[in-house]
Parts: sequence; structure tokens; C-alpha cells
Amino acid sequence: MTKNIIFGSILIIIILSISIMVLSLYNLRTAGIKSAIHNAESISEVIKGGLTSYMVDENMDKADTFLQSISNMQNINKIWLVRSEFLNKQFSKESYKTPRDEIDKEVISTGELKYKINETITSTTVRISIPYNAVSNRGVDCLKCHQVKQGSTLGAISLEIDITTLKQIGIESIYIIMGIVLISIFFFLLFTKRLLSPYLELYNDFRNNIDESLIGKFSKINPSPNLSKEMIQITEDFNKLIKQFKETSIGIDEKLQGFIGYKTLKKSNDPINDSQEIIDNLSNLFQFKKQIELDNTKEEIYSRLSQVFLNKFNIKNFSFIEINMLSHKMENILNIGEGLYCKDGISENPEECRCARTKNDIMSIDFHNSCPFFEKKDKFYYCINIDIAKNVYLIVNFVCDTKEELDILKEKIIFIKNYLSESSPALEVKLLMNVLKESTFIDGLTGLYNRKFLEESSKKLIPQALREKTKIGVLMLDMDHFKAVNDEYGHDIGDKVLIELARILNETLRDSDLIIRYGGEEFIVLLVGVKSENDALDVANKIGENVRNNEINVYAGNKLRKTISCGLSMFPDDASSFETVIKNADIALYEAKDSGRDKVIRFKDDQVTSVDLF
Ligand code: GH3
Ligand code: MG
Ligand code: MG
Repeated sequence: MTKNIIFGSILIIIILSISIMVLSLYNLRTAGIKSAIHNAESISEVIKGGLTSYMVDENMDKADTFLQSISNMQNINKIWLVRSEFLNKQFSKESYKTPRDEIDKEVISTGELKYKINETITSTTVRISIPYNAVSNRGVDCLKCHQVKQGSTLGAISLEIDITTLKQIGIESIYIIMGIVLISIFFFLLFTKRLLSPYLELYNDFRNNIDESLIGKFSKINPSPNLSKEMIQITEDFNKLIKQFKETSIGIDEKLQGFIGYKTLKKSNDPINDSQEIIDNLSNLFQFKKQIELDNTKEEIYSRLSQVFLNKFNIKNFSFIEINMLSHKMENILNIGEGLYCKDGISENPEECRCARTKNDIMSIDFHNSCPFFEKKDKFYYCINIDIAKNVYLIVNFVCDTKEELDILKEKIIFIKNYLSESSPALEVKLLMNVLKESTFIDGLTGLYNRKFLEESSKKLIPQALREKTKIGVLMLDMDHFKAVNDEYGHDIGDKVLIELARILNETLRDSDLIIRYGGEEFIVLLVGVKSENDALDVANKIGENVRNNEINVYAGNKLRKTISCGLSMFPDDASSFETVIKNADIALYEAKDSGRDKVIRFKDDQVTSVDLF
């Protein structure tokens, strides 16, 4: 910068000097030529006057001496006379008065003054020819002696005038100007060094300081004592500004770090841009949080999260998995991309999931086999664990095709975790709501469905059976002499007997069958899609047999055996209304009780009247 200014200034001085020199030389030359022409004109007038008077006095023999004396004048190299054809005719032709060059010839033929400049490095001469034209007026009357028309060219006077002296004056001027220029450059350099340098250095300091501040390196400028008071004041003000900027920038940085925990992230060389990026992320996160608070279901939240991962973080393959450590259940909630690459075995042993167990991020970068359940060895995974409720974990499994993709993902993981942690409370609320909703359909003692569930599920189940033309076997079960258990052993044992019955029912029946605790010790079993009533009878008898053979530990080694009675009715064979089928099963149950208990009775139409209800 300094060098540029100095170099530029010197160049301007030199260009200015050369311009002045060229202009001076040109002016001198022009002045020299004009003065030479003027001199030549004066001389020609003198000669014309002299020659005329010699001619009038008939003393023409002295004319040559007269010309000779004039040619001796300073700066006149040559002088000669040229006669036109008019005079040659009037007088005898004199060879030395014939035109000597083209200028002479042109002047004689045109009657106009002509000149030509001859320049060499060392000298400059002006060659001029001035015409003598015939005039007739009071002072001079050429026509008296010469028989020519007025205005005819009688002859010319030719001169060669030396104006080299002027050129020398010009060269001397150049030396003087060059001297002045050199002295100016010298003083300019001195001035720049002494006075300008501290300002230019300060300018560089300002530039460097601002550049460094932009990449987070703050420092102060020490002003040179050679600077003016004003500049020192400006520098100190600048230092104050930078200090304030530094403190504010660090403050913002620390606060943002606290908010988003981006300390672990790679920082760029532009802290202001970094902060801007974090603020943008925080703003997006805030918007996201507001959105999920309005979401109705857990599924909506997962879907919103997956949109963020897909669109904002540009991640293409990931799965959401919920693991419930208490119920040992693993549920693959949502897959985006190619699907879940966890081996099947993990779903039976969810507590084996390394990510859920260690509650740490698990990735395949250092130890590709760190998760034995990840089956795609040519891919890379990154699993995150988020606690969404007590003993319920959300595992997010990201799958990358290349190591580079995984590295990019790792850089984003801190922001991804922010989104997950923001979702976690909302997910917990939805999870609790689901549990609450489920609990309204579940019997607290046995874990079986309750009567409310039967009412709700039959709304879908019955139309479906009618549509698909399948049968439903309805079993109404009742523990025989159950009151006696309560009376004999107390309610706790009574409860235990009910729990045992629920276990037997669960073990004996298929997953597609529905087991409902209908009342105190009354149960309904819906055999959904049973082929025939014989099959239904077989299932009912099997239940009866398993209950009969089951021994219940009561206390002090005492064992208890119980039996059940069961009524069977078939939908839609027995009635088109499901409620009627349930009533029919109840009627059949009473008949089983009536006829001795521990048996299964198939409902028949005639039972309606034969059963003694009271
Ligand atoms: P039956 O062979 O005619 O069915 O005789 P039972 O004694 O089983 O019939 P009853 O309907 O007279 O008795 C049912 C008893 O079940 C009455 C009630 O106290 C008891 N009970 C109902 N719910 C519960 C429960 O949740 N726990 C316990 N321990 N007892 C219950
Ligand atoms: Mg009963
Ligand atoms: Mg009973």
C-alpha cells in the first residue's frame, strides 16, 4: 500500500515534468520559427527597399555588396535573390538568380511566402522564401520600371536562418526542470518517510485488525507517537470499539453455547457467521417445539421429526425404535429409507440393545462390530438413545452408505439431538396418554381386557366377521364355588386364583382370540374366526381341563384345585345380534352350573325357557 502510493506519486511527478518539458520545447520551437519568419520578413523589406533605391539610382553594381553585408548578420546562414521570368525578360538572365530549390520555384509561381524547418539533433534552421510582388501605390510603384501586371511576382528573397540558439535554451530548461524534479522527488520521499509513513502504517494496522476481528482474534492497535493528536484519538476510540465488540461477541458465543451446546462442533473462522447460524438453528428449534406441542399423537411427532431429518439434515435412512425395558418390548415405530437393519433376535431381547443399555451413542466407525445386532456390514450406523419415559427409550438408528456420509452425520448430531431432546417431553406425554387410554380397557388385576373393551372392539369385530363370513365362538366362563375360596382363604388368595385363571386362558388360547374379564369371576372368550362349533367346544373343554389340572399354592404347602363352568354360543349361527349371542352363552353357562358345574354347555334354543334364572 505505502509502496503503491509512493510509486504512484513519483510517477505523477515524472509525467508532469515530462509534460512541462515537452510543452516548453514545443513553445520554444514555435516561438523560434515565428521569430525567424518575422526576421526574414523584416530583412526582405530592408532588401526590397535597398534594391529599389539602387535600381532607381542606377547603382545596381553595389547591390551585391549590400546583400553580402546583410548575409553577415547573426544567425543568417545564407541569403540570395531569385528573379522571375518577367525580370529575366526585362533584364538579361543572371544564372545565380534562378530558383535554387522547390521552395523558390513554388514562391515564384504562387507569389506566397513559404518556409521549411530543417532539424537535426544539434541544430535547427528555417529555410524561408519571401516573394516580391508588383505593387503600385503612392510610396512604391513597381509598374513604373517593370512592364508587368499589378500583383505579378517579380522575384523572391531566400534566406536560411539558424535558430539553434533557441534549442539550446530549451535543452538548458530541460536540465533545470529535471533538477527541480529530482529535488522534488527527494523531498517527497523524505516527506513520505517522516510524515506519511505513520499514517500509512496505521491504515495497515486498521485493516489487519479488522480482518483478524472477523475471525475472532481481537487485539488493540498501538498508535505511533508521530501521528497527529486526532489520529491517536481515533485509534484509541477504535480500540475501545474492538474491546466492546470482543466482549459482546464472546458473551453471545457463551450464551449460545449454553443454549445449544455447540462447543463440540467444529467452528469456522467466522464467529459472527457461526453465531448467526446457531441463532437460525435455535429459531427453527423453537418453531419445531411449538409445532410438536400442538401434535395430537406420538405418530405425528415421529413423522414431524422424520421430516426434519429428511429435509433439514438431509438424512435418507433412519428408523425410530421404542424399547420398553419393563415389558421387554421393542417396537419399530417408523422406517425412512431402506428400513431397519437390526437382526430379528433383538426384538425378543430388547435389553440387549447396546444403545439402550449403555445410554451412549453407538456408531460403527471405530469398532464396526460394536453392535452385534447390526447386520449390514457394508454400511455404517449411528444410534442415539433418548429417554422418553421411565424405562422407555427411543432409539434412533441412522444408516449411512459411506464413512464420509457418517462423518457428515456426526457433525450434525448435536443439532439432531437438540431436536430429539425437544421432542422427548412431548413424546412422554403422548406415551402416558396412550397408557392411560389403554388402562381404561385393561383389567387391573389380571391384565386382561375389560368389559368396556368388549363394547368398543365389538363395534369393529362384528361387521368384520359378517363381511368376511367368519364365525366367532363366544365362551362365557365362571369359576365354580369361587366365593368359598374367598371365604376360606381370604381375598388375596381369591385374587391369586383369578390371576392363575387368566394365565391359563392366555396360555391355552391363540393370540387372535380375545379374553375379557366380564365381571368378578366371570370371563368371556371370543374365539375369532373359529371354524366350527366343535372346534369351539374343543377349546372350551381344553380350558376346563387345564383349569382342573392346575394346582394353586395357597399357603404352607397347601394346594388348591378349581374348576370352571362354561357356556358356548356361536355368532352369527345362534343370533344375528351379538348381544343376544352373549346372553345365550350366559344362559348356557347357567345350565352348566345347574347341571353340576365343571363342564361346557353348548347353547340351544330350548334353554331359554328351561333355565331357572332365579
Ligand atoms: P358358583 O359356582 O355358582 O359360581 O358360585 P360362586 O361362589 O362362584 O358364585 P358367586 O357369584 O356367589 O360368587 C362370586 C364371588 O366372587 C363373589 C365375590 O365376592 C367374588 N369376587 C368378585 N370379584 C372378586 C375379585 O376381584 N377378587 C376376589 N377375591 N373375589 C371376587
Ligand atoms: Mg359368578
Ligand atoms: Mg362362580
